[in-house]
Amino acid sequence: MKKIDIKRLVRPNIRSLRAYNAKEIPCRVKLDANESPYAWDPRKVAEVSRMIKTNRYPDPEAKELKKLIGKRFGVKPECILQGNGSDELIYYLITTFGGPVLYPVPTFSMYGIISRALGERDIPVPLDREFDIHIEKMMRVVKKDKPKLIFLSSPNNPTGNCFSAEKILKLIEASKGIVVVDEAYQPFSSEKGFLPLLKDYRNLVIMRTLSKIGLAALRLGFMIADPAIMGEVNKVRLPFNVNSLSQELAVAALKDTKGLNAAIKTIVSERERFLREMERIEGVAPYPSEANFILFRVKDPDRLYRKLLKKGVLVRNMNDGIRGCLRVTVGTPVENTAFLKALSQSLK
Ligand SMILES: *Cc1c(COP(=O)(O)O)cnc(C)c1O
Repeated sequence: MKKIDIKRLVRPNIRSLRAYNAKEIPCRVKLDANESPYAWDPRKVAEVSRMIKTNRYPDPEAKELKKLIGKRFGVKPECILQGNGSDELIYYLITTFGGPVLYPVPTFSMYGIISRALGERDIPVPLDREFDIHIEKMMRVVKKDKPKLIFLSSPNNPTGNCFSAEKILKLIEASKGIVVVDEAYQPFSSEKGFLPLLKDYRNLVIMRTLSKIGLAALRLGFMIADPAIMGEVNKVRLPFNVNSLSQELAVAALKDTKGLNAAIKTIVSERERFLREMERIEGVAPYPSEANFILFRVKDPDRLYRKLLKKGVLVRNMNDGIRGCLRVTVGTPVENTAFLKALSQSLK
């Protein structure tokens, strides 16, 4: 066989990347990926699935879905763009506008990963000590480097807090580029979010996903912004990026608001119990959260991570990005109790 050096064929910026590590670790209690512990009713899933014509392409415009989302959020369908998860929309935004891409760290890793995959310069700027936006540092970059895109995850993953609304507004007003407020965790937050501000700011994009509210399997995200922005991004969208099954299931599940809201309410109240109980365990310092997970500080996170896994509890080790920290997703009450028990046993 002919010898070909594949590595040398690959673009230099891709050569230095590593594949996103989403390997499955077997465990009894899975609290590592910020998924909802509550799936949508399998009987309803079966009912919707039966209607799918597998020989036909999906609706490329996801008309029904966009109509429903538009009604929910009080915007026109042309202000909405659907994605195969919001990850794909991040890809599309950076493909469309390019860099520099500015974001605070620690935050969701895809902003940086996708920037680098596309060969665009990314500028990570550390958060302040309260995990809020470091406004002086961010403003300096806005003025000097004129980022085309700013990504702000609020509530922020993995710290769990919302950024100060005034600071976000300052960035929106100062930036000549696009500011994306990634509201993946907004359903769990007590703050009102940035949707009401869309009418005042043409460079604001709001991103949402169904992944954290019990529909991660569908891979469905969407963003809302001025039609001028959506029209440009729509040029790079692959025509059938959201499959028929996901479109139909999303429409049906979103109409089933009672079930969705009940699950969110349970998760929020469990989060508060979680926080109280974690505060009582010696050697654990949890941070308050507006999301469906809790970041917590311990003495030896690597060791605790392994000990928890030995007891069948999988959490996320954040020690690389935030020294001393692990992140745990809020599960069912039974799972949460199992985690708390494993946690206090492991620290004894
Ligand atoms: C989980 C997460 C996403 C990913 O959403 P998908 O729709 O599953 O691609 C986006 N942004 C943040 C901040 C997240 O934590």
